[in-house]
Amino acid sequence: MNKYSEDIKAYIDTHINSMPTPALIFDINGLRENYNRLTSLVNWEIFYAVKANPADEIIHTLGESGASFDVASIQEIESCLNQGISPDRLSYANTVKKVSEIKKAYEYGVRLFVFDSISELEKISEHAPRSKVMCRILTNDHNETSAWSLSKKFGCSDSMAYDLMLKAQELDLEPYAIAYHVGSQCITDIGWKRTVKTACKLYERLEKVGVKLDVMNIGGGLPVRYKDSPNVNSQDLICAIERIIDKNFKRYNINPKIMAEPGRYLVADCSVLVSEVVNTSQRREDDIAWAYFDSGRYNGLIETVGDSIQFFVDIYGKENDLDLQPYILAGNTCDSFDTWYESTYYDLPKSLTYGDRAIIYPTGAYVNTCASRFNGFDVPREIFLNKL
Ligand SMILES: *Cc1c(COP(=O)(O)O)cnc(C)c1O
Repeated sequence: MNKYSEDIKAYIDTHINSMPTPALIFDINGLRENYNRLTSLVNWEIFYAVKANPADEIIHTLGESGASFDVASIQEIESCLNQGISPDRLSYANTVKKVSEIKKAYEYGVRLFVFDSISELEKISEHAPRSKVMCRILTNDHNETSAWSLSKKFGCSDSMAYDLMLKAQELDLEPYAIAYHVGSQCITDIGWKRTVKTACKLYERLEKVGVKLDVMNIGGGLPVRYKDSPNVNSQDLICAIERIIDKNFKRYNINPKIMAEPGRYLVADCSVLVSEVVNTSQRREDDIAWAYFDSGRYNGLIETVGDSIQFFVDIYGKENDLDLQPYILAGNTCDSFDTWYESTYYDLPKSLTYGDRAIIYPTGAYVNTCASRFNGFDVPREIFLNKL
């Protein structure tokens, strides 16, 4: 069972009563370990998906470790450049870009772009001439294989991708890879099984007409352990994906290099969120109790929507209090939407009361980057341990 690191635990033990909340405590050592584990398991080129956690400290550390970066906006490009990452290590992976953004990225030296439509391809050929292009194809995840679907909005069919790659060549761009994303927090290999095969067929067809792609971009989606997925073994899954790739490459007689865009996997379990219990109460005499925290959907915990990501919650100092009752968890903003989960209750100590502090984890991915100042509340303060 993964918890947070010893260094985070020591920091909390020392600062728990003096620490302003909400606070995100991130252990940079964990990030290095996650990156090194992944690159020792497989020979993939890693493009960290910056949106998962765009903190400078994280970009800097991964940059030093040798990672490349998947960026989706000019601001993310600038965050990487500011950390000394050279533009040839950036992949502009958003399939919907303004002309002004393509121009700016090109000026910065970015030469790798993703598209999924003819008009985007035309924009790229005009404003980023002779760049490498990756065509994003649809996957059928629809929440069937992942906690967060990433395919409803992006990607084209494989037959369209075939035509578009030929078109890319005509437009003097360099057809570089087929890209896909099977959805975020995929706890099984089902999504990859289907999509790798579809992609490989496409490589075979394109090779027959002289379009040989150097790379296959298998996207992100590697999972971590949350409360509702406590037994996830990402190491086993990575090896299973590698076997799926090998098998299909042999079958279709292709051999592109693999590029992957992990976000969550690299950063999620490196961080905890320390939050204060603001109140506990009961709506009706016989109802389930409520617990309100100074963290909610508006200042970091947006992935609670649809009950899809369920965080572990420990109450500091009451970990061994086993007299529990169910609670509905909520943030403290003035909106009913700011209830963490619609139909998932948490068993927490009956003695839970205002002023208690909760340790919520793993919160290194899609938390700080999704926090707003709604209702005037501060976004979580970020504390980095073991920085370079
Ligand atoms: C969000 C995103 C990722 C990262 O996904 P994770 O599930 O966090 O690994 C990778 N690639 C693209 C194109 C994305 O949009």
